[in-house]
Amino acid sequence: MRKNLYINGHWEEGENYSELKSPYSREVIAEIAQASTVQVNKAVDSAQEAFSKMKRLSSFERSTILDQLVNLLTANKDKAAEIISLESAKPLKFSIAEVDRTIETYKFAAEEAKRISGEVLPIDAAKNGVNKIGFTIHEPIGVIAAITPFNFPMNLVAHKVGPAIAAGNTIVLKPASQTPLSAIFLAELLAQTDLPKGAFNLVTGSGRVVGDALVEHEKVKMVTFTGSPEVGKNIKTKAGLKRVSLELGSNAGLIIDKEVDIDSIIDKCVNAAFSNQGQVCISLQRIYVHEQIIEEFTRKFKERTDQLVLGDPLDINTDISALISEGDLSRAKTWIDEAITEGAVLTTGGVIENQVLRPTILSNVGNTSKVSCQEAFAPVVTVNKISSVDEAIQQINDSIFGLQAGIFTNNIANASQAIKHLEVGGVIINDVPTFRVDHMPYGGVKESGNCREGIKYAIEEMTELKLVVWNHN
Ligand code: NAP
Repeated sequence: MRKNLYINGHWEEGENYSELKSPYSREVIAEIAQASTVQVNKAVDSAQEAFSKMKRLSSFERSTILDQLVNLLTANKDKAAEIISLESAKPLKFSIAEVDRTIETYKFAAEEAKRISGEVLPIDAAKNGVNKIGFTIHEPIGVIAAITPFNFPMNLVAHKVGPAIAAGNTIVLKPASQTPLSAIFLAELLAQTDLPKGAFNLVTGSGRVVGDALVEHEKVKMVTFTGSPEVGKNIKTKAGLKRVSLELGSNAGLIIDKEVDIDSIIDKCVNAAFSNQGQVCISLQRIYVHEQIIEEFTRKFKERTDQLVLGDPLDINTDISALISEGDLSRAKTWIDEAITEGAVLTTGGVIENQVLRPTILSNVGNTSKVSCQEAFAPVVTVNKISSVDEAIQQINDSIFGLQAGIFTNNIANASQAIKHLEVGGVIINDVPTFRVDHMPYGGVKESGNCREGIKYAIEEMTELKLVVWNHN
């Protein structure tokens, strides 16, 4: 079935179409329009024109539009979840959870639209400010280009579209080539709301053609990108003076201190390491366990991991399905084999069954093995022994990434150490680093990014601060 571009409130045919295949069955599921540079320019022009309407909408009107979207998505939850599973091979149970989160993200956006406010400044606190007060206003920035990854094709789009509309901006969205259907579904829903025509545009196509055209367009005021560090750096280089928000990758680490009740954390660890086949930016990739409990932990972690059900993503019982591409499958397998050659011990997994990689646990993994120091983005987790929390903190910090890290501990001093010394955007005490709810500030340091999302924080990135000084004289 052919799927078209959505520009200025109309569905427009592409000059070319590309076959979209299910990562699991490898069957063709749609034909996707590939936008030309001319069509990308048209989408940006439409967004630029619609900006004059968007910026005149009241907070109440912008919030109402987002509420309309929440209602439409709620009424179409099952369909939305099936689309995610079909195009990305995310097991249905996780797709349903993603849709629930997406609805909540848009709800937060509807609420935040009503809370965008500045502050009053005592200008007369300065010697030369006598008789003056000041205040600040957050104004929408203009046309925002949103470029999104495959792994949460609805919720990560919501993290860009929600705050952009809440703040009164207009958007041109380029979703990942493997997951355009979720974005097309969003366009179909937005078309039924009161959003002004042209305020949301969707251009599908390759990162190189569509992405480059957006990033270099002079009318685009901001690029908000979620994806790999490699592409993120490339975008930053090409974007010139535009504002650029980057949410990038990681190799998230977890510390498990001695005296932690292992039974109470096993399910969390399994879920954090393997949900969506480990294709989560804060997927649990490196676990550092105190030497006093590592044996018990590894045994129970393996037992629970081996119970995971491999299979068709559209089957509600499936826990693990196909990786996003055959290339990623062979890359992950190669990295596992390399780590074993370098001295790691295969605790479980490491084999491919019906094109699905069995969830894999590797023990005693060297810091320089790719499964440890690079982003695995596959169902692979390392478990290493530590003799103190300090040692584990050093190991976690020995990384080019710094998105989130977690620690399970009953010791207040160790929790404090973790807060103080972990070089990450978020420290999660007594939970996995994979914990995220959609209104918290979320983002990384080092090569994990340069901004914070979470609706309120994304709105700050998507607005310009205007100062007003009022002279009473
Ligand atoms: P990716 O390969 O970097 O692609 C992300 C997006 O960038 C896609 O839409 C892609 O389009 C586009 N793109 C590719 N080349 C481009 C270019 N030259 N100019 C502009 N855009 C370009 O990432 P992915 O494989 O989809 O997603 C996985 C990565 O995302 C992981 O590193 C993961 O950690 C990261 N991630 C981070 C977060 C976070 O919040 N920090 C959340 C989720 C994922 P095509 O698909 O057409 O190539």
